[in-house]
Amino acid sequence: MQLQSTIVCPECSFIKTETMPTDSCRVLYQCLNCGVMLRPKPGDCCVFCSYGSFPCPPKQEEETS
Ligand SMILES: [Zn+2]
Repeated sequence: MQLQSTIVCPECSFIKTETMPTDSCRVLYQCLNCGVMLRPKPGDCCVFCSYGSFPCPPKQEEETS
């Protein structure tokens, strides 16, 4: 299980590695560089699924089972 996901900002390409909570989805994420508020793309449950190098833990479990 990957608990760290590297988020790439779609606006400014700023890269930051974040630790994901295992019990909840993160639907809002503010880029520290440009300040844009990221939301999940349609069909994705959280910002990690949309912009992260790894999807959120619940999604990872889905994919492996
Ligand atoms: Zn940004």
